Amino acid sequence: MNMQVNNQKDLLKKRRLPDHFSELIDALSDIVFQLDDQGCITYLYSEGEENPFDLHKEDVIGRELKEVFPVSVTHHLDNAFTEAQRQGKLQVVRFSVKQRGKEKNFEGRIIPTGGKNAHRKSAIVILRDITADVNSREYFNLIKKIFEESTEGMMIFSPRSNKVFFNEAFFRMFGLKLDENPGKRIEDFERFFKAEQFAMIRESIRKHGSYHGEATLIRPDGSRISVWLNYDRLQKVESDGDGTYEIAILTDISELQEFQEELHFSATHDVLTGLPNRRLLMNHLEQAIQRCVRNHRSGALFFIDLDDFKQVNDTLGHSAGDTVLTECAKRIRSAIRKSDIFGRLGGDEFLLIVEEIKSPDDLMHLAHKIINVVNQPFDVGGFQYHIGVSIGVATFPNDSTNREELLRYADMAMYQAKEQGKNRYRFYSNTLDQKLKRHSMIENILRYALENDGFYLVYQPKVDLNTNMLTGLEALIRIDEKIAGPLHPQEFIPIAEGSDLILKIGQWVFERCCQTMAQWKQEYQVNNIEISINLSPRQLMDGNFADFVERVLRKYGLDPTIIEFEIGETAFVQSQKASEHTIKKLQNIGCKISIDDFGTGYTSLATFKRYKVDKLKIDKSFIDEISLDGRDQSVVKASIALADAMDLKTVAIGIETDDQRQTLRLLGCKEMQGFLYSEPKRAPEILYLLLKER
Ligand code: C2E
Ligand code: MG
Repeated sequence: MNMQVNNQKDLLKKRRLPDHFSELIDALSDIVFQLDDQGCITYLYSEGEENPFDLHKEDVIGRELKEVFPVSVTHHLDNAFTEAQRQGKLQVVRFSVKQRGKEKNFEGRIIPTGGKNAHRKSAIVILRDITADVNSREYFNLIKKIFEESTEGMMIFSPRSNKVFFNEAFFRMFGLKLDENPGKRIEDFERFFKAEQFAMIRESIRKHGSYHGEATLIRPDGSRISVWLNYDRLQKVESDGDGTYEIAILTDISELQEFQEELHFSATHDVLTGLPNRRLLMNHLEQAIQRCVRNHRSGALFFIDLDDFKQVNDTLGHSAGDTVLTECAKRIRSAIRKSDIFGRLGGDEFLLIVEEIKSPDDLMHLAHKIINVVNQPFDVGGFQYHIGVSIGVATFPNDSTNREELLRYADMAMYQAKEQGKNRYRFYSNTLDQKLKRHSMIENILRYALENDGFYLVYQPKVDLNTNMLTGLEALIRIDEKIAGPLHPQEFIPIAEGSDLILKIGQWVFERCCQTMAQWKQEYQVNNIEISINLSPRQLMDGNFADFVERVLRKYGLDPTIIEFEIGETAFVQSQKASEHTIKKLQNIGCKISIDDFGTGYTSLATFKRYKVDKLKIDKSFIDEISLDGRDQSVVKASIALADAMDLKTVAIGIETDDQRQTLRLLGCKEMQGFLYSEPKRAPEILYLLLKER
């Protein structure tokens, strides 16, 4: 303290202030004024660490308060001053002032020293900076509000003082009334948890002083709620002791969990049927395989596919389709054991996983049962509808222990069931796998051949049975041996027919054939030879095919009447509206239509009439034994008679021997095609034949 302050103290002493008053003042961090009767400052102490108003004795002694403080301060002090004088009593006033952009809080204490005398303004004024107090009180109130109003259940327990605080949410979560006593220590809460969960929580607190994790509270009424529990033992931060606080904060996560469960369900289940979806099924399959391997047992995967389901959607509409799917799912579910896993793979495909199979008979029995329940008529919008189902079965671990492979095998077997007539089941076998591998290899070869000019045409002559004169040719496709080795159309055409490849191949055949015909016509004046081209059902379904034919014929300047399209009898029987349209259009262009492989299907007379067919080609299977087998002879005889009656020509295919030729001639057949006359040959050799016959 400097000399000046000492003088001030002396002055105070002179004015008969209590003994030790000056020491008392020294101990304060406050600002202290003394005012004389006129209200002028006679003493100032503001030597504390802070001097918020930047007061200096030399500036303030002898002045009034209003000359020293800003208006905002004197305004508060003045009022208190007047009151203190009026009452002759200490007055306390609190006010806030902005200083350097910060809000500061002060408490002013005015002690009138002139008694109740309005003329004597003498007083002692003490100003104290209470900003920190105010802030901490505000902070406390805020924390209190958060604690009380929080939706998280909170408990704070001080073991040292044995005091515990709860908020309302805590009671609510535990299902307790506000006047009940929940407990204090972790042990008191044992009744709210499952034994093993509680043991885990307690162990974690014992070991680490905390637990952070999910828990399920079992309330007194038996209801349960899922919470996230944060339990911590905190060392007291304040310096006034060595105690700890135990703090529990509980967050209700039941809604979140429900949402998560819903999310999990929709991610693993099919929306329409509520059955497990592909993802979940594949998980189940993996587990089932592992279980079977472990326990030396067998399981099976059923790939179930509804037959012609597309037709249901197309003819009855999608909502009827949905009804059929849901009903099918229900029926299959009812036909299997509870422990079997059944789900929807997508579309009209379902998977069934069965374990603990004792014999293959069990599987056959189950497959029959499924086919049977699905085959029962469906009532769709008042109509009775029948649907078939094809099933492929692969077994594990026998066929494979790899789930993807098993799925593929079961799918292959299902595909085979479809191929063999639908509404049946097939077991996967290794040979089936070989077959399908070859299938996909051939598809690749066909694609390659299309892009790399790998096909060529051969032509097989048709001749008059009586005169042995050439009457026409059949164009037959071949694939370059350099690409695929010997690969016959009997093998690759059905594979091409399984996809759109046949459309491209068919177009290539037609265009190449027309090109050759045009060349022969132009260069050798060969222009009246009839040429037959084989058509696949898929080409007939292609709405653009007839237009393509017309365009190509025009491009090469060919007479459409030399073209004859051969349609297999079975394809013809099954032909639908779209094919009928193509056939009619081709006939309108001027092309002829003949029935190939006649005798293998059951075409009715009415069909021939409707389509105005030109020719029947009697299938080779009737010709092979014709000279020996009386039955074949009668079939061929009847066919020829039928054709004659309807003014159709007949051609017999596959004549290899003269006996066959003679028999057919006697039966009244007019035309033949076979190795006896000529095998299919490349264009130059056939041209040579044609020119030779001129
Ligand atoms: P398809 O239309 O019945 O053709 C007649 C088949 O009988 C030809 O077989 C021909 O080589 C064979 N053949 C003719 N005479 C005899 C004979 O005396 N003995 C024997 N053993 N066979 C004879 P290819 O060329 O192997 O064709 C098989 C089938 O492939 C054809 O049967 C046809 O359905 C299909 N095909 C061939 N080329 C094409 C094509 O360009 N497009 C379509 N869609 N199918 C084709
Ligand atoms: Mg043919």
